[in-house]
Amino acid sequence: MTSLADLDISKPFVATVVSNERITPDSSEEDIRNIVIELDQEDFTYNVGDSIALLVPGPHEFGKEYHVRLYTIAGGEKTEDGKPLLTLCVKRCFYIDEYSGEKYEGKASNYFCDRVPGDKLTMAGPFKGAFRIPEDEDTNMLMVGLGTGIAPFRAFVRHIYDERGGWKGKVRLFFGAKTGLEMIYMNDKQDDFANYYDEKTFKAFEAVSPRPALDAPIALDQSIEQNAQEVWDMVRDPDTYVYVAGHEQVGELLDQAMAKIAGSEEKWQQRKAELKAGKRWMELMY
Ligand SMILES: Cc1cc2nc3c(=O)[nH]c(=O)nc-3n(C[C@H](O)[C@H](O)[C@H](O)COP(=O)(O)OP(=O)(O)OC[C@H]3O[C@@H](n4cnc5c(N)ncnc54)[C@H](O)[C@@H]3O)c2cc1C
Repeated sequence: MTSLADLDISKPFVATVVSNERITPDSSEEDIRNIVIELDQEDFTYNVGDSIALLVPGPHEFGKEYHVRLYTIAGGEKTEDGKPLLTLCVKRCFYIDEYSGEKYEGKASNYFCDRVPGDKLTMAGPFKGAFRIPEDEDTNMLMVGLGTGIAPFRAFVRHIYDERGGWKGKVRLFFGAKTGLEMIYMNDKQDDFANYYDEKTFKAFEAVSPRPALDAPIALDQSIEQNAQEVWDMVRDPDTYVYVAGHEQVGELLDQAMAKIAGSEEKWQQRKAELKAGKRWMELMY
């Protein structure tokens, strides 16, 4: 991926917040939001998996005009008068300063999560995503997304079943959060993927943390192991694309899970290298 400093933000535009809804329950420590924004320009075109930049106005350190961060476009519609309406899935981030030990708010995510309907935002993009949907609809797709990494896959699944009208290859989605309650787009309010359970080729599996209170990692391994044969057959099939998205931790968890079902770390790394060499492995980690 190009670095943030290389993004072309020379033509910023204004977006208006239409809605901002918390999709994790109040009892959850994680604040993840479904934010819908309306863009002024009708000619905004993007591909599934692309992202958009939020430009947070200063003052910032080193005299920077904007603090720039990217958010994946999770869904798109049009208003009655033809304006693009984009859905984004945003997690409120915090970080602990390693020297002082103090907790700081992530600038862009907190700014974004605090906006209310009617607020104006400065944005730029779209920016090309790391993912590409194969042309051939017999291709299998294995998707793994943790936390807000679900955003591109929401757009994917909608695109292939609603816009393209169906998919013949297998589509398998493994996704997870720290607790079942935080299962984005799978709780009562946002049970989005359920719309696709009738599709013969689509299956989604959730992975949750076994010990959420202790901040244990998400049990992606268990979820993958329960489907070990199918997952391993898919990754060995030359007609499969693998997509991985979310916080850096998703890569490690996936490697651990896949090494188990492959029989060894070495076997998995070898297959992963082949997938990468064949351009069948795509990842978006942040
Ligand atoms: C292509 C792409 C797509 C993305 N899509 C999404 C998405 O759909 N949804 C989503 O929620 N996020 C997404 N992200 C992540 C998002 O862009 C931001 O990185 C995230 O929201 C945090 O930004 P922030 O400005 O709130 O935090 P920042 O203020 O930038 O801080 C965030 C991180 O910076 C580090 N950091 C910064 N300053 C310090 C310091 N002084 N000491 C220690 N650590 C520090 C920490 O690691 C911290 O976790 C995406 C990222 C990329 C690259």
